[in-house]
Amino acid sequence: MYLVKLKKGKEKAVKQLHPWVFSGAIDHIKGKPENGEIVTVVDYQNEFLAYGFYNNQSRVAVRLLEWNSETEINEEWWRDRISKSVKARQELQENNNTNTYRLIFSEADFLPGLIVDKFADFLSVQILTSGIERLKPIILDQLQKLVNPKGIFDRSDASSRAHEGLDDSSGGILTGIQPPEFVDVLENGIRYQVNIADGQKSGFYCDQRDNRRLVAEHSKGKRVLDCFSYSGGFTLNALKNGALEVSSVDSSALALETLKKNIELNGFGQSKHREFQSDVNKQMRVFRESGEKFDIIILDPPKYAPSRSSLTKASRAYKDLNRTAMHLLESGGLLATFSCSGAVDISLFKQILAWAALDAHKEVQFIDQFSQPEDHPVRSSFPEGEYLKGLLCRVI
Ligand code: SAH
Repeated sequence: MYLVKLKKGKEKAVKQLHPWVFSGAIDHIKGKPENGEIVTVVDYQNEFLAYGFYNNQSRVAVRLLEWNSETEINEEWWRDRISKSVKARQELQENNNTNTYRLIFSEADFLPGLIVDKFADFLSVQILTSGIERLKPIILDQLQKLVNPKGIFDRSDASSRAHEGLDDSSGGILTGIQPPEFVDVLENGIRYQVNIADGQKSGFYCDQRDNRRLVAEHSKGKRVLDCFSYSGGFTLNALKNGALEVSSVDSSALALETLKKNIELNGFGQSKHREFQSDVNKQMRVFRESGEKFDIIILDPPKYAPSRSSLTKASRAYKDLNRTAMHLLESGGLLATFSCSGAVDISLFKQILAWAALDAHKEVQFIDQFSQPEDHPVRSSFPEGEYLKGLLCRVI
């Protein structure tokens, strides 16, 4: 067994069940583990701490798996972990209104570097660590046994794989049949076409499922502006809930094309819908110049702060975006605003909204708070896993 000995004082986080050991915490390594092999982590006095898999390329040198010294990490262990994750999604599996959700969420499900999403009868997997790469055959076999999909598709993000020294594997069918160009999925009783092969990331952002429904509850008879609409998650929920009119803004032509297909698919008709292929900030300025106002505005931008080092710049970008949106709301209108930057926590996000309100000469009441859904759990020992947050603000 390979031993990874930590420097004095570096055992604290491991004892608190945090799943990462940074390379700088390591005193020395006994033996020469290959990337992805299981190692035993010990403290400076050689006391057992945990088992994990090793990688010499990544900043995170060991990703921890098991803190009980008596437990052997073997095939059984992996199969059991996958079963537990799938079982934890039982309620979603039994929900007739939704057939797309995350089955396995990496560290949050004790499987660092493995993400599995379900799209109706197909699965898409992301294999992002060398440890998981080694286990691919067992993982695919167990998923097939438990979920019995028609096909499993590889959507691994190339840049994350590169951090672990893995090649770009993405874009192929791993087992079963090739999915059709568009897979028809159901979420909150609404149908969507998802392009598993070419869509952004996994093709559909299932982490906003609950928030789409919660925001839409306010939309009856309202004029709604859905910014960063992608394939229409918030737009379609608003139309379903009787919005007077919904305007969707996205810079991607493909996203808006899919959105229009999705409106047809659900029989909502285009008469209550307008779409704008444009930069959101630019489009909002156009609305302002023409004096257009809305009752509800949704802001669901991409990640502005990929790391803590970009926090200042990102905070300013969030502030400017939200300030501009506040100018477009009728008095008492609602702003549903999101951030999927892990580095921006909810208290900073509230602060940003307060700054935006001051700049816009408005006052904001926070009336609801949003986070990520049950299939994107946050482990108490791994707060880094909490990334999605949102606020519903009444703007006065
Ligand atoms: N709200 C969506 C998910 C948004 S993902 C949903 O519920 O599914 C972010 C989207 O923002 C992507 O579709 C991307 O094309 C778009 N985007 C990124 N930068 C943009 C910009 N500056 N202006 C307009 N759209 C942008």
